[in-house]
Amino acid sequence: MIAPAKSDAGQAMHDLIAELYPICRSITGDGLRQTLAIVQKHIPLNIHEVPTGTPVFDWTVPREWNIRDAYIKNSRGDRVIDFHESNLHVVNYSIPIRARMRLQELKQHLHSMPDYPDWIPYRTSYYKDTWGFCLSHRQLLELKDDDYEVYIDSTLKDGHLSYGEYYLEGNRADEVLISCHACHPSLCNDNLSGVVLALFLSKHLSALSLQYSYRFLFIPGSIGAITWLSRNRERTRKIKHGIVLANVGDPGKLTYKKTRDGKTEIDRAVMHVLKHSTSDYEIMDFVPYGYDERQYCSPGFNLPVGCLSRTPWGRFPQYHTSADNLDLVRPEALADSLAKCIAIVNVLENNRTCVNLNPYCEPQLGKRGLYRALGGHTDVPNRELTMFWVLNFSDGQHTMLEIAERAGLPFDLIEEVSRILADHGLLKYALG
Ligand code: ZN
Repeated sequence: MIAPAKSDAGQAMHDLIAELYPICRSITGDGLRQTLAIVQKHIPLNIHEVPTGTPVFDWTVPREWNIRDAYIKNSRGDRVIDFHESNLHVVNYSIPIRARMRLQELKQHLHSMPDYPDWIPYRTSYYKDTWGFCLSHRQLLELKDDDYEVYIDSTLKDGHLSYGEYYLEGNRADEVLISCHACHPSLCNDNLSGVVLALFLSKHLSALSLQYSYRFLFIPGSIGAITWLSRNRERTRKIKHGIVLANVGDPGKLTYKKTRDGKTEIDRAVMHVLKHSTSDYEIMDFVPYGYDERQYCSPGFNLPVGCLSRTPWGRFPQYHTSADNLDLVRPEALADSLAKCIAIVNVLENNRTCVNLNPYCEPQLGKRGLYRALGGHTDVPNRELTMFWVLNFSDGQHTMLEIAERAGLPFDLIEEVSRILADHGLLKYALG
């Protein structure tokens, strides 16, 4: 069984989110690079740079976006909106502009949320050349009819799309894919929680001897997954299981969105872990929108990749606003998400098929010291009951996870009992 994470992991994950939080990320550019460089301080991340204009299936790697400053100044020269106060103030991928205009004209480029008047919304315009500012509705209402100076010091030029990849080699070439998006600016749950969870999971696994090989991707959402898939089409054949991690730091219950197939081993492993935990959870069927599982589960690939979240995107009011901040993500929620991921990996790593070496009637457990000495009890201890389940279904056709599901018992117990029975010569592990 894989050892649990350190008890202070949740706080360490939160600290790393706090370090990454101020960076203005996007689907390309220096903010994304800076983020990958920080991840690289913790794990030997391979950073790839794909040139602008590279065709990736039906898409093209876009121009690279970088931004240094942006503001709206009133006629007195005061910055009434300042990019340096929040990078959400600028519509992500805004084209550069320097202009003077009256409020009425400016308003066509302003975005706010009347329902949450203190929050700044997060808006993007990746594939349409436009510019805009986001501000709290309160700030919008305070803007007087005035002559404003508008300035966005951004560049959209030929450059690269960056992504990070960490490959952890196991005994088998078969892979488990762990993917997260790292393209949102100062947003914690949506983006950074997935980044730190993938990072801490990879660090934890790197200290172990593993059956599967693990591939961790830190990529810009959608275009990053499309780019990676287009460059690794052959390699995807090795992916046996996968999880997209997003929104894993809020205090809500864990939610698992199934793979396109819905019945793969990763689906069953995740559902098993959640079912046997003491916390509340929710299972969702696959839908073709959401995070990068959309690309991994596109029909040409149809990879067994699900998505693990706490509260899913769009279901928490802070989603895509300035309120998705360091208060929304909690150390204990991050630690719980990490513990669940480790438990899921534990199932994948240890899920084997066994063969009962004494299949003709039940073996006599008592003479091997495996059965209680005194007969007549009605409360059959869990371990003995588990032995009967394992012995009966170790016919070379059922994996331990299948036995655990059928018996309604935790995987760890099935695995432990299988090991005891194997030690006593009653069971052998099937090859493969
Ligand atoms: Zn998002």
